[in-house]
Amino acid sequence: KSFHDHPSHVKLILICTTVTGGGLLAYSDAGSSAAEVAVTERKKVVVLGTGWAATSFLKNLNNPKYEVQVVSPRNYFAFTPLLPSVTCGTVEARSIVEPVRNIANKKRVDVLFNEAECVKIDAENRKVYCRSNSNNNLNGQEEFVVDYDYLIIAVGANVNTFNTPGVVENCHFLKEVEDAQKIRRTVIDCFERANLPNLSEEEKKRILHFAIVGGGPTGVEFAASLHDFVKEDMIKLYPGIKDLVKITLLEAGDHILSMFDKRITAFAEDKFQREGIDVKTGSMVVKVTDKEISTKELKNGGEIKAIPYGMAVWSTGIGTRPFIKDFMAQIGQARRRALATDEWLRVEGCDNVYALGDCATINQRKVMEDIAAIFKKADKDNSGTLTVKEFQEVMNDIVERYPQVELYLKTNQMRDISDLLKSAKGDVKKESIELNIEELKAVLSKVDSQMKFLPATAQVASQQGTYLAKCFNRMEDCEKNPEGPLRFRGEGRHRFKPFRYKHLGQFAPLGGEQTAAQLPGDWVSIGHSSQWLWYSVYASKQVSWRTRALVVSDWTRRFVFGRDSSRI
Ligand code: FAD
Repeated sequence: KSFHDHPSHVKLILICTTVTGGGLLAYSDAGSSAAEVAVTERKKVVVLGTGWAATSFLKNLNNPKYEVQVVSPRNYFAFTPLLPSVTCGTVEARSIVEPVRNIANKKRVDVLFNEAECVKIDAENRKVYCRSNSNNNLNGQEEFVVDYDYLIIAVGANVNTFNTPGVVENCHFLKEVEDAQKIRRTVIDCFERANLPNLSEEEKKRILHFAIVGGGPTGVEFAASLHDFVKEDMIKLYPGIKDLVKITLLEAGDHILSMFDKRITAFAEDKFQREGIDVKTGSMVVKVTDKEISTKELKNGGEIKAIPYGMAVWSTGIGTRPFIKDFMAQIGQARRRALATDEWLRVEGCDNVYALGDCATINQRKVMEDIAAIFKKADKDNSGTLTVKEFQEVMNDIVERYPQVELYLKTNQMRDISDLLKSAKGDVKKESIELNIEELKAVLSKVDSQMKFLPATAQVASQQGTYLAKCFNRMEDCEKNPEGPLRFRGEGRHRFKPFRYKHLGQFAPLGGEQTAAQLPGDWVSIGHSSQWLWYSVYASKQVSWRTRALVVSDWTRRFVFGRDSSRI
């Protein structure tokens, strides 16, 4: 039969097959010719990833004029802030994941999902090359190509080992749900092994030495969870070896949790020392073998020490995925740390490609050029100086355009502009003083080089996803009536307002039902009350009622029965 002889619903399926490269999952075969026209007129949005950024984009996209194809090696969304709780069985792995098809099926927009990873982006021809997931239980890998009108890159980041020898082979990471499950099994393995007869005391001690590399929020939270697990559950079950357990936290910098307020850092360091978690600051890991970690003691003239261990968890930060590196080289961004975008999240150097979340960064060079232009505009008499009042106006302009600058100043204890002026040798009290623009710019550029403009957090990724979905929902309207700020009209004026990050605060769970919370307005709270705040925020932030119910019931189970120590 010719194409025209098929019943209309079959035709629709054929069209879908052509447009989407084979997948049919979320399409309804409505069958009417109107629907056929609508399908062909729709713009195709390809989303790479099912993490925080991609999921919040999907959840907020509600304009049926788009057809969406999601490609990700993971067919679920994972609530990463609860991964440390999964490592010790406080929360079960399945309680923190939501199938992406559940999210997609509830939408007015047609969403198709393919479990595959993107291996190459060809921005010139608007194609992405994909390969079916290599982590599933099947043999063989399919390859396919997907065309797009708009591409949304939200693929997150890799772990960063800084090329330290032996890390990939010997350390655990804590990035994915599978990592957390593997850690849980290994912790229990260590206890079972150390409990075997005929092992020397020294060997038992080695096996029960848990080393955590990286004193950031993830490393600290994992150390605290592990300590709770050992203290509250494992030592009751393994009384014979309870005194041999040791947890060490290795950090190259001077302090752990350095991105938090100093009070939180001090509290965490004190608490850990009191509870017997060995916090070794100034210890840079230089090599890992199957039984030993070698550290360079930065405070001891670079002395190299070998520490025997049973299990090591590496949590030192993030790096760029290899296919993103290739793409960056293709579009002239080879020397960057992450995909550079403008403030509308458009990838610089290509059309209709957006990047958000951990894989992206707002282009700092451009930001500094903008800041320089604001200074220039304020210096009306071209004298190279500004009065304090003029400078404050300049700062208001900068902060309005780049709220990140204000956030940076705050989190670095530069509480207001007067601190900034002090470091630029100005005196804020003397209204008439003239400030040297070059000196001010030097201070701001220091700010710029130290900050990554936006932290790599779920908070940023999900706000970016929501922002971009709203832009896409209103794309047609805004083509006609652009809404970018008037001050930046002219060529710079865009259809939408630029992305503005709103910092809602951050938590650092420290174990023993105590959490440190740093909320907007420099409000710091540490202790049991913040732990309850943590429970409520994380329950409310769950992506569905199903996961919310599961997580709350896991917490209740743990309170009543303790954690499960079976090795499954
Ligand atoms: P991700 O959420 O990592 O998602 C990336 C997606 O891309 C995944 O679905 C992945 O499968 C997919 N992908 C990967 N490769 C490909 C490919 N080749 N093709 C297609 N898809 C691909 N942030 C907070 O704000 N608060 C916290 O308390 C917090 N705790 C954390 C605890 C842990 C243990 C970890 C690891 C992170 C934590 N974070 C937290 C950080 C937060 O998880 C990340 O910043 C956030 O996940 C970034 O979102 P994203 O969408 O950019 O990337």
